[in-house]
Amino acid sequence: MSLLNPANAIKIEPLRCLRIEHVSNECSKCINACTVEAIGLSTSRRISLDSTKCIGCMACIGVCPTETLVYLDFDPAVFVLQAGVKKDLSLSCKNNNACLSVFNSENLISLGLRHESVNCDMSLCGRCDMNLGGKTAEIIAEHINEANRFLQAANKPLLVISEKKNKLSRREALFSFVKDVNTLRNKESFDALFDPKESLPKSRVVLQNSLKLSIEELPEGKIKENFSFIAHKKIDFVSCDNCGDCIQFCPTKALQYNSDKTKILFQPLRCIACGICDDVCKPKAISSDSELDIVTLAFNRAEILIEHHFEVCTECRVSFPQKGNETICARCVSFVQDHSDLFALARNM
Ligand code: SF4
Ligand code: SF4
Ligand code: SF4
Repeated sequence: MSLLNPANAIKIEPLRCLRIEHVSNECSKCINACTVEAIGLSTSRRISLDSTKCIGCMACIGVCPTETLVYLDFDPAVFVLQAGVKKDLSLSCKNNNACLSVFNSENLISLGLRHESVNCDMSLCGRCDMNLGGKTAEIIAEHINEANRFLQAANKPLLVISEKKNKLSRREALFSFVKDVNTLRNKESFDALFDPKESLPKSRVVLQNSLKLSIEELPEGKIKENFSFIAHKKIDFVSCDNCGDCIQFCPTKALQYNSDKTKILFQPLRCIACGICDDVCKPKAISSDSELDIVTLAFNRAEILIEHHFEVCTECRVSFPQKGNETICARCVSFVQDHSDLFALARNM
């Protein structure tokens, strides 16, 4: 890593970006998080980084739901694992990691689940030249607040923010960070945990492990909360025509068919709240609610969102998802409606 230009250590994996995943996806989280307009979009909707503008704050990494942007010298998910399970942990750019903005809400939740107390040291943010207009500190605080809402629902101690006025230059902070990353790298490798074929972001794999570690203390039943990084989906039985578009486009395979395609299964742990399923569903049958079962997340259990009963259409002889007692499929019904003039003409002849 070049210390003076940490942008050189940011890698973009364009195919993971939601904008590439689905043409109507308008995710702009990384672009909005960047205070110096270093992130842009190419005409082919690919995210690009101008390393001459980038100041290396890493806020884009912490906000990306798909881990499209990665920091080669610091992987926050690996940091969570390597920090182990300790009593107290202090997260600070001057001690053991990059700017706190590199941690997404899931990383912070995982740390909160693994430690009795986590102190998020934001004492340098006020003087840091990477915190332009206070925006980076705002992003960090948003992630901490969201993590705390989750931890509160999970009956776990909340993350604490400390804002003492210490002085440390950005250069000093980066030097101490690099020293500590090298120490981290010499520790055990956790590569085996991460399957390159897995479509799930690494932070989510680590979150699941962290929830499992706390399983005995997690509350049973559903909590009513909305989070930006995860959604709980539901499908309206009457409107869903079992087209399978939501399954086909879901980037993390959170939605799946069962073996005979009569049921749509949903694994909440895999959902990154990207909204692509809502966008592609023509009858607008799929939506989100604010119910989340934390124990279900720990075991990555699948729920049945909808179960269809199939009948053979008496007109076209193709099977269709029956909603009541109808004997004709929706396609034949709409065909008759669309050509009602012709049928009336034929009757009158
Ligand atoms: S935040 Fe991630 S998914 Fe969203 S536009 Fe940026 S790179 Fe793509
Ligand atoms: S929820 Fe919508 S997109 Fe998914 S199968 Fe049903 S109709 Fe198709
Ligand atoms: S279930 Fe929907 S919102 Fe969740 S990851 Fe899949 S497409 Fe995105």
